Amino acid sequence: MTDLSFDNRFINNLPADPETDNYCRTVENAAYSFVSTTKTAAPKLIAVTQEFATQLGFSSETIRSIEFTQVMTGNRLLPGMQSYAHCYGGHQFGQWAGQLGDGRAINLGELITATLGNQTLQLKGAGKTPYSRHADGMAVLRSSIREFLCSEAMFHLGIPTTRALSLCLTGEQVVRDKMYDGNAAFESGAVVCRVSPSFLRFGSFQLPASRGDQLLLIQLVQHSIKADFPHLLTTEGNFTADLYLDWFSEICNRTSEMIVHWMRVGFVHGVMNTDNMSIIGETIDYGPYGWIDDFDLNWTPNTTDEHEKRYRFGGQSQIGQWNLFQLANAIFPLIGEAEPLQAIMSDYAINYQNRWCNMMAAKLGFKAYQGQSDLQLFQSLEKLLTAVETDMTLFYRLLANVANDLDLQSHSQWLALFAPCYYDLPGLDTQYLQSFSQWLERYLARINFDGLTQLQRAETMNQVNPKYVLRNYIAQQAIELAEQGDFSEILKLQIILQNPYQEQAENQDYAKKRPDWARNKIGCSMLSCSS
Ligand code: AMP
Ligand code: MG
Repeated sequence: MTDLSFDNRFINNLPADPETDNYCRTVENAAYSFVSTTKTAAPKLIAVTQEFATQLGFSSETIRSIEFTQVMTGNRLLPGMQSYAHCYGGHQFGQWAGQLGDGRAINLGELITATLGNQTLQLKGAGKTPYSRHADGMAVLRSSIREFLCSEAMFHLGIPTTRALSLCLTGEQVVRDKMYDGNAAFESGAVVCRVSPSFLRFGSFQLPASRGDQLLLIQLVQHSIKADFPHLLTTEGNFTADLYLDWFSEICNRTSEMIVHWMRVGFVHGVMNTDNMSIIGETIDYGPYGWIDDFDLNWTPNTTDEHEKRYRFGGQSQIGQWNLFQLANAIFPLIGEAEPLQAIMSDYAINYQNRWCNMMAAKLGFKAYQGQSDLQLFQSLEKLLTAVETDMTLFYRLLANVANDLDLQSHSQWLALFAPCYYDLPGLDTQYLQSFSQWLERYLARINFDGLTQLQRAETMNQVNPKYVLRNYIAQQAIELAEQGDFSEILKLQIILQNPYQEQAENQDYAKKRPDWARNKIGCSMLSCSS
């Protein structure tokens, strides 16, 4: 591993906390604190993302070495690595929470890669930092498995996300009150090495802004532009208000693109606090996230949010906008006038709507979005999908099989085609069947207007409508096995989720709808923030 090179621009460009002792504190005028990882008793590698590791420059021989496991659990630093925790703030569930920071994430530095630019390696669960507040700086196996599998699943679905390089056990036990109900228990500690060009969050900028620390705010914005948005820089390299606006506009764009992807595949982030919003528009911080089984815009997997449902599936775009508004407020001192920021925010809403319409058109197999009449088709479909419990993922794959001249005369014929996606097939009433058949009639007219053959349409639809997503119950099954020491299911899911759009005849079981036992099970449909 000595051939790996690091270029720690974050550290070199931004001010450090002068205090190097590791105790909880308020940190001002600094973007990060140097901190050492906590050494662990018996680290063990469970899974690694082989192809990504190769891209980062880790050879297969390296991955098999004890040294690799040592590095990925914070027991050893490579030459060039510098470990630090980033200081940021954030709005949590709509309330300003002040300083938060990397409470259990420790950055190791920026690896220089041949094809992926600088990639920051970060260990999640490697010990306390000055930002740990009252918590222990550790992560448990179940939440680490969830982050490891889901971030990679998202990547292979074509969705911007932080990556996961490795999943290790620490060999230590961690106490968690899983459902916050007074039943604390020991769980296995684990560390995920996650990787991204940038771990800056909206809250990274909000914190100095909230303290009136304009110097640090400017330094952070300029660092972000130089490191991750260099294409915005002019040849003179000047930092102007216009440049900051271009930067903000691109963040809005990336955020809207990311959320449209979430809506496309049925991903619910669960905790869209501003400290969990990546400045480069990646999905970040996989906590109590979930995947839509039956289509429900009001669903959230997060039990902490079960009453307000602030972060429900259908609210994600508005929350994205609310979060961007907080970022706009934070950078306002660098711009000096509100109008241009407001204009960009209005564009966000328009861009989101346009992107969403194009995405829906693609999901339905249309050549292009045709305006109002298509929009009505999408809206009636959403009503139908909500009216009776319909599995979203299965529905779109089945829709691709609809023949261009499907016979709608008898319900039983077309219903047989869609049967696998209903959670209560016998419960479907005539009114629903009639509405759905009317919708199919409009759909057939629309696809015949495009003139694609069924095969052509299915081919394009199956590239945007995944067959395999990390269904909540499937992740939970892998977790339960892993907690008994059997990691085989994690490795199997890793492989299946690498090709989410392919049929994979041998893995049909992993595409099945949620079984009844998982409907209200903790870990499947209900998750707390405890991790
Ligand atoms: P999250 O809800 O995961 O986005 O975390 C919110 C804040 O709590 C962040 O500052 C985290 O670093 C911190 N945090 C979460 N879990 C822990 C933990 N086990 N130890 C220390 N800090 C934590
Ligand atoms: Mg977080």
